Amino acid sequence: MSESARKLLVGLVLFLAVGAVVGWLYGEPALGLLVAALAALAWQVSRLLFFERALRTGNFEQFRLGEGVWEQLFSRFRFERERAARRKKDYRRLLREIRKSTNAMPDGAVILDANNEIIACNRAAKELAGLRRKKDRGQRVDNILRDPELTRLLHSGDHKLTVEMMSPVRDGEWLDCRVVPYGADQKLLLLRDVTERIRLSKMRRDFVANASHELRSPLTVINGYLDSLSDDDSVPAAWEKPVAQMRRQAARMRQILSEMLELSRLESAGAEKSDEPVDIPALLESCKQAFEGHTRIADVRIDAQSTAELRANKAEMETVVVNLLSNAIRYTPQDGSITMTWRSDKEGADLIVADTGEGIDPEYVPRLTERFFRVDKGRGRADGGIGLGLAIVKHVLARHDAELIVTSELGRGSEFRCRFPADRVVVEPPVPLAGGT
Ligand code: ADP
Repeated sequence: MSESARKLLVGLVLFLAVGAVVGWLYGEPALGLLVAALAALAWQVSRLLFFERALRTGNFEQFRLGEGVWEQLFSRFRFERERAARRKKDYRRLLREIRKSTNAMPDGAVILDANNEIIACNRAAKELAGLRRKKDRGQRVDNILRDPELTRLLHSGDHKLTVEMMSPVRDGEWLDCRVVPYGADQKLLLLRDVTERIRLSKMRRDFVANASHELRSPLTVINGYLDSLSDDDSVPAAWEKPVAQMRRQAARMRQILSEMLELSRLESAGAEKSDEPVDIPALLESCKQAFEGHTRIADVRIDAQSTAELRANKAEMETVVVNLLSNAIRYTPQDGSITMTWRSDKEGADLIVADTGEGIDPEYVPRLTERFFRVDKGRGRADGGIGLGLAIVKHVLARHDAELIVTSELGRGSEFRCRFPADRVVVEPPVPLAGGT
């Protein structure tokens, strides 16, 4: 017990005792005690009311000095109040600093709650996407930024996914959007200006497409002359070999150009594509038949485990299968085997091309889909590999929301698995039983 509390109690007891003694002198000790108790109560209540008024008005002058319990209470109270005010000031300063630094960031940052409603955003979010810090607070971000790609990003729950969308406020500018989890049930939507990158990649695409296109005409002329030369009996015999070699290389150039054109077509084609339910086992069969004329190739088998169809662009899927199958054939010896599998489950579907061929060093697997990447450049050139096939496959799959998963072991074979999401898989409704009621 503190000194002042002890003093209060002793004083109160003494006061009541004095009241009782005075009452006793008048022959009424109980009345004396009661009067003393009421007086003590009135005093304490008056202090309480003063204290309450001091709290209300902020004027504590009355409690400045003194040793009593009320003065002690007040000093404690004043100390805590000043400490809280100091802390509040520190927090305000910190908040100002944080806001200043987020506002200085060139990237837009938007804090969203679990329902994608805006909690706060920085200045760059306003400049890049037109979001207003105060007015848009509490609004769903996909109601303000209406872009199907952004909606897909917000609903995907994939924190590594990035999508690109046009800036709604700056003409011709592009934003790269990404969502990262933040705090409890909150998300941070990050917006980055990638106009320059998009412009450069468009320039590169256009250049490749134009160059490939322009090279096609002279190549056709060269090819025509080479064909005539090889059919011409008056050409000296010494020229036969060089002409044949030139024809092979010209054919290879034609192939390179057509693959480069295909790649740039896929890259510049937007989301608009004609998707239809595709019968994958039938497609695998027709691709297998396309290679049937080739002699001395490994055995190709089809393992159709599912009857589900795939919502896809048929011609593009054919490109995928032909590329994977021709690679498997190229890199698998004649006594090996190649299996093309189609299977589906609740989470999606897999189109797999597996071979028992030479396999790929794990070091190179991540680089396979790079343009012009070949594991063994010398060998690739000798048997016609260009290094664009898997780049094309990857692009087509990306257009179908699918991914390419490659597993391979040197000397044992490779597996190229195309993984499609469930919403691409069209499952036949079960046929109702005849005669059932
Ligand atoms: P290419 O036209 O050279 O086949 P791709 O892009 O299709 O180009 O393949 C890139 C490289 O990946 C190939 O050069 C080859 O080294 C390797 N590769 C692709 N498929 C297979 C496979 N089934 N087995 C072994 N290596 C493969």
